[in-house]
Amino acid sequence: MNLTTGKTGTISQSVEDTTSLDVATIRKDFPQLSRQVRDKPLTYLDNAATSQKPRAVINKINEYYQQYNANIHRAIYAIGEQATLEYESAREKVARFINAWETSSVIFTRGTTEAINLVAYSWGRHNLGPGDEILITEMEHHSNIIPWQLAARDTGATLRYIPIRSDGTLALNNPDEYFTDKTRLVSFIHQSNVFGTINPVREIYQMAKDVGALVLVDAAQSVPHSPMDIQTLGCDFLAFSGHKMLGPTGVGVLCGRQELLTGMEPFLGGGEMINSVTMEESTWNKPPWKFEAGTPNIAQVIGLGAAVDYLETIGIDSIERHERTLTRYALEALSAIPEVTIYGPGAERGGLVSFNVENVHPHDLAQVLDERGIAIRAGHHCAQPIMQKLDVPATARASFYLYNTTVEIDALCEGVTAAIDFMT
Ligand code: PMP
Repeated sequence: MNLTTGKTGTISQSVEDTTSLDVATIRKDFPQLSRQVRDKPLTYLDNAATSQKPRAVINKINEYYQQYNANIHRAIYAIGEQATLEYESAREKVARFINAWETSSVIFTRGTTEAINLVAYSWGRHNLGPGDEILITEMEHHSNIIPWQLAARDTGATLRYIPIRSDGTLALNNPDEYFTDKTRLVSFIHQSNVFGTINPVREIYQMAKDVGALVLVDAAQSVPHSPMDIQTLGCDFLAFSGHKMLGPTGVGVLCGRQELLTGMEPFLGGGEMINSVTMEESTWNKPPWKFEAGTPNIAQVIGLGAAVDYLETIGIDSIERHERTLTRYALEALSAIPEVTIYGPGAERGGLVSFNVENVHPHDLAQVLDERGIAIRAGHHCAQPIMQKLDVPATARASFYLYNTTVEIDALCEGVTAAIDFMT
């Protein structure tokens, strides 16, 4: 199987800098972008793994620890009330950012992985059984495969996969084969972290609804990079991570429809998630708190609120446009190197490019680039089934964000050429 666009020359537009972002000014907001790595300026092209953090986010976390560090929801004193206010105001900001059905539809988790596991446990373990089918795709991140493998194992349900085509898109031409009256849940990636493919959510949602199935969308790679309106997207649950959208690690979001959240069993038991507790039995708090047992990641949630403020100030539409410009530029520049094979669809993709270089292992390439201060990803990208389909052990991946420039992509291409000269 040969999934390439690179050498076929499908990227024909000449790339002009149509971006409306003031990238030079934006870069000054990110302390780490001005540091040297191996005596070279850092060129950070691993944004699909995690983004850098602006000073506004770092300062907000500091502010919490220095000025109103206290536990939330239970303190009847000023700093506790301030911490609670900041935590719940972050929920309102996130809800607005994705146009959540209600503020209380937003549950804070540790990240996308925990958000998907929450649904697999709280909904899956109580609603699936033998004869039921869970439908995912061959292009999922491991965090949207393993929770369903475990749920299928524990409930007797069957896990099925929508296949991918040779260009890294979903083979949806024969939906009746996959969407059946046995399908109970369809869970799939919005934007592929390997191909950059943007999947047709609305279309898949309709196919799922036609057979009465629920829909979970893994939006880890889309919410940070393009406008999200959950109410028009087409889903019942949406999962994403704070650390990929300028926020801190240790915080993410599950957004779910209220009627589903209300009917679901708790995920973790403990403080905060209860209404009343006796020695015999307990009753549950309302969503979202029913799903936020124990002391949550208060600083991280507040930091995520600051990240949303920052993204809104810059403008998510402008960020998306900027990344598209960079991606077209990178596709054109990399495909001009004859030894490079690029994976995924054409220019209509999210802001990343996965590729391989003939006779250069991606790990070796990453090492050569690292010597030049350039950080890219090399590996299976937590998507081993895709690597099996591509019949490669790994790929290199460069992924972009609001602060990246065409100059950095030029540096990447020079590094790739140097690796070819050095190793082949
Ligand atoms: N889904 C996708 C598409 C991802 O790219 C990632 C992170 N690489 C995840 C899920 C998992 O996110 P986290 O590790 O933040 O839980």
